Amino acid sequence: MMKEAAFIKRSSGSHWVGDGFPVRTLFSYHDIAAEMSPFLLMDYAGPVDFAPTSERRGVGQHPHRGFETVTLVYAGGVSHRDSSGGGGTIGPGDVQWMTAASGLIHDEYHCADFARQGGPFEMVQLWVNLPAKDKMAAPGYQGLTADQIPTVALPQEAGTARIIAGRYGDTRGAARTFTPMNVWDLRLQAGRTLSIDLPAGHTTALFVLRGSLQIGAHTIRAAELAIMQREGTQLVCDIPEEAVVLLLNGEPLNEPIVGHGPFVMNTQQEISQAIHDYNSGKFGQIVH
Ligand code: MN
Repeated sequence: MMKEAAFIKRSSGSHWVGDGFPVRTLFSYHDIAAEMSPFLLMDYAGPVDFAPTSERRGVGQHPHRGFETVTLVYAGGVSHRDSSGGGGTIGPGDVQWMTAASGLIHDEYHCADFARQGGPFEMVQLWVNLPAKDKMAAPGYQGLTADQIPTVALPQEAGTARIIAGRYGDTRGAARTFTPMNVWDLRLQAGRTLSIDLPAGHTTALFVLRGSLQIGAHTIRAAELAIMQREGTQLVCDIPEEAVVLLLNGEPLNEPIVGHGPFVMNTQQEISQAIHDYNSGKFGQIVH
């Protein structure tokens, strides 16, 4: 059975995260939680041109607990450091998969080379929820470079998929995840049809960065997100023009979500604990 689009989302405005990331929020658990689980939030930064600078543009030290932040760079470069000892610089095609879990403090800046040269910047940041049993697991950091992310050919010469997380046929994605999910960077060919099978009952959404997709009667254009019905396993999209699309697919957690700023837990009591632990210095500090 073919999946149908449930609804299409676009951002109604943009805001700055620090002074480095002009973002459009495509969804968050404040507006659609159950429908997008295990994905909590998606910010799309750019595309935008930055002038060269000697300043550090970005967002300074801040905490997270209870989930993972996944940063995909399409243009430009980002450097990050965190209090669990993780850190690194990622560029186009690279992905930073950071597990905040029990808590860490990090900062996120344009990398020094990109800041000095300036140019186009484009990035997606996802917040991926953790199941209740893993929210207090140890923090972790996976810096996934483009050459570690396998690329597979899609059927019917529809293009290619970079398997950042999950599995396509026998090909396993680069990232370790706590629950079953697929995060794929699709590069699709004009005039072809994307036709793939996905697990039954899982959340599925397609974010178009460039080009457009046709799903049934719906046209999904750049900076728009199509959220698919859970029913059905066959995803079929026509590709009217060359497109870059981020596919999100995952098993819903079906657990309560209580969030406060950078903390996303299951109960209000756990949020109070997170604030208390952060204020008591239990999230550690970034070692320079
Ligand atoms: Mn952050």
